[in-house]
Amino acid sequence: MIAEAVDPDGEGRAARSAASSADALPFGGLANIGYIQVVRHCNHFCGFCSNPTTPYTHDFASMKVLVDDFVARGYFGVILTGGEPSLHPELPEICAYARAQGLHVRMITNGHRLADAGFARAMADAGLQLVHVSIYSVRADVEARLRGTEGTLDRAHAALENAGRFGIEANVNCVINRLNADHLDENVKTLVARHPHIRHFVWNNLDPSMGRAEVNQDQFTPRLADFELSLARAMRFLHKSGRTFRVEKVPLCYMSDFPWASTETRKIVKGEERIVHFLDAKQTVRQTDWEHVYADACDACSLRMICGGLFDRGAGYDPAELAPVFIDRDRVVRAILDDPSDPSYRERYPSLVAWQRDFDVRIEETRARAKERAALRTTHGEMPPPELREPGAPPVGQVTERGQRLFEAKRRKEAAKAEALGVRMEKPGRD
Ligand code: SF4
Repeated sequence: MIAEAVDPDGEGRAARSAASSADALPFGGLANIGYIQVVRHCNHFCGFCSNPTTPYTHDFASMKVLVDDFVARGYFGVILTGGEPSLHPELPEICAYARAQGLHVRMITNGHRLADAGFARAMADAGLQLVHVSIYSVRADVEARLRGTEGTLDRAHAALENAGRFGIEANVNCVINRLNADHLDENVKTLVARHPHIRHFVWNNLDPSMGRAEVNQDQFTPRLADFELSLARAMRFLHKSGRTFRVEKVPLCYMSDFPWASTETRKIVKGEERIVHFLDAKQTVRQTDWEHVYADACDACSLRMICGGLFDRGAGYDPAELAPVFIDRDRVVRAILDDPSDPSYRERYPSLVAWQRDFDVRIEETRARAKERAALRTTHGEMPPPELREPGAPPVGQVTERGQRLFEAKRRKEAAKAEALGVRMEKPGRD
């Protein structure tokens, strides 16, 4: 479910209180949060899933070493994701372990199991602090079509209710795609009316580079212009209501009223990293560079140096849709550094001159790494080459005979489902 990756920086009551003292944060104040894919199967069948089923499986021991890895790196928290993480039988145990090690523990889920009060209570008792429930559309027919499964919306609503009932903070995640692009504002208005306790929303523009998203681009990848208006309306509505939000993989020229809410921009400005323990052949990947693809038009843009550009690794988006903006870059930087939810950055960069000095060094490093990566990609193709994987990271999961058998059976079932739904299966052999 990394297509629904969250921007973890700072949102959440617990994160805010922990971040209220720079001393409480590792890495001199960086609130890095890592991801563990605890399973890779799912009880839904989204036609644009970027992390579909693999033969790899985890048990408590193999997840524990990854939690320990984050603790050793001084990470602030961990996000349990998938696949659908709630399908792992030892999820409460690994949640409790991570919490006991001092990590802030979150989960990204489709909400199907959290809709059951017993499971929600067990996760709350295990120490789950924040749940990101994924909802693409409040129109039940659209949601069912996108998830390849009927009845999912009611359960997602029930999951949000249960989170409130058992004291787990709840956010909503939404992958922007062709079918919901015109009603992102309707989504947030409906959700806020029904679940007023939700204080934070995250949008991820669809990543067309992997899994079924790659092979079903014609059905699900939106044009940037398709969602520009409804996203702007949704952000304005949330901002007015005092709620917060983050937007991932959307170029700043398509969110120019709220550039400080871009996940990539915040990470570029703050110099944060992200580690993902992929439960597949990629294994552990450490992301430190947040630049993607730019158009010639970007050269004239005032935000070029803090914009993640166009996320198009699957060539799913058109650089011709990009257009320069002339917004005061320093105001955007200041808004991010002065965010009251994390005062450590204001302390670290008392002036923009201090930030600029640090930023210039980081940009030089980023350029050097980009060159190195381009050279390596020629040799290794799209799979992160061994040199780009995190050295010294523990193995992620295992492939057992049983896991392989379950994978093959699952893939046969999914192929039948794909045919019935009229979507293509992901390319084999990458995992
Ligand atoms: S024109 Fe390019 S640099 Fe400027 S906001 Fe758009 S994508 Fe970013």
